[in-house]
Amino acid sequence: MTSDAKATLAGPPMTPVLRSLLAAARAAEPKLVDRLRRLVEAESPSHNKAAVDRATALVAEWCRETGAQCILHPQGAVGDSLEARFGSPDPSRRPVLVLGHLDTVWEMGTLSNMPWREEGDRIAGPGVLDMKGGVVMALAALEILGLRDLPFCPTILLLHADEEIGSPASRALTEGIAAECSAVYVLEPGEGAAGAYKTARKGVGQFRLDVRGVGSHAGVDFGSGHSAVLELARQLERVAALSDPAAGVTVNPGVMGGGTRSNVVAAEAWAEIDVRLPSVGEADRVEQRLRSLQAVDPACTVSVTGAVNRPPMVRTPAIAGMFERAQRYAFEMGLEPLTEAATGGASDGNFTAALGVPTLDGMGAVGGGAHAAHEHLLRPFLAPRTALLAAMLL
Ligand SMILES: [Zn+2]
Repeated sequence: MTSDAKATLAGPPMTPVLRSLLAAARAAEPKLVDRLRRLVEAESPSHNKAAVDRATALVAEWCRETGAQCILHPQGAVGDSLEARFGSPDPSRRPVLVLGHLDTVWEMGTLSNMPWREEGDRIAGPGVLDMKGGVVMALAALEILGLRDLPFCPTILLLHADEEIGSPASRALTEGIAAECSAVYVLEPGEGAAGAYKTARKGVGQFRLDVRGVGSHAGVDFGSGHSAVLELARQLERVAALSDPAAGVTVNPGVMGGGTRSNVVAAEAWAEIDVRLPSVGEADRVEQRLRSLQAVDPACTVSVTGAVNRPPMVRTPAIAGMFERAQRYAFEMGLEPLTEAATGGASDGNFTAALGVPTLDGMGAVGGGAHAAHEHLLRPFLAPRTALLAAMLL
């Protein structure tokens, strides 16, 4: 932070309310860590409905203890979504949505190789950072506000069970609830070692390119074949050329296949393509270019399916304003300067931001190794970020 920024942020000295939130969050840390352990030990892979539902039931019980009204929304084959409403409804104020997920990328039984571990400042275990840490922080923040009788915004905590597989079932519920809210806070981990809040996320598209050629015997009848594999190789050069890293656009043909045997001219080939986009304009441009790919060999056909399934979260003035408020509170609480970051990874915050509801993301735990065997969070960040979350709900 520049000294100018510090001067603007200085304002009145750390307010007593913010100071009291920080003290309360520090006092609540042992309970928070105890809940986190119980939640991490309730393994919850996205594809195991019964398991995720057990983790959700645990959190619903804690929400009720904090005075929330809870609704479980069935989501078909995946686990239920939990909607917990805190604070007294106030028709003159739109609620704030606190958004998260309870599913993890870790299969059942992961705990046997990757158990809960507390070592110095680190707490490790499956899903501890992404994002069970964020969930228990939000609960602690709401509990602190409720216990201190502070007037906080009516708050809806919404936790899903299918985020790690792209939120196919829960997206509509997120969008429906976000539309009635004034702001969205997302409990995904902060960025990097300093835990920056995320004020922009790229959009994500998943596409599939299918090539149909003409198969033939590679020895006896080579001339009548038209190789789908060769055509795919030519197309992939064009696909990759749609990347524009300077503009934040990346197009990655990450998986491909085709043909049956080396002595057969391939009749079919395919590739799966991941696309990351910083703006709606770029999303339209890349999608349109992919759909208009033409075969080089006129005897082959090329078809593209898929879509941009998470729109970009663009840093609007309203998002910048929310971040500045958080930064000011962090400063007044005497915390390390809060920074912001843009990321290529997507979250459910992409959906709410695209609806025009100001969305601040990365407000959860700080650590490293999300989706990796060294997943961990850093304990010293737990209480300060819980206090900050509580302050943002005032
Ligand atoms: Zn996550």
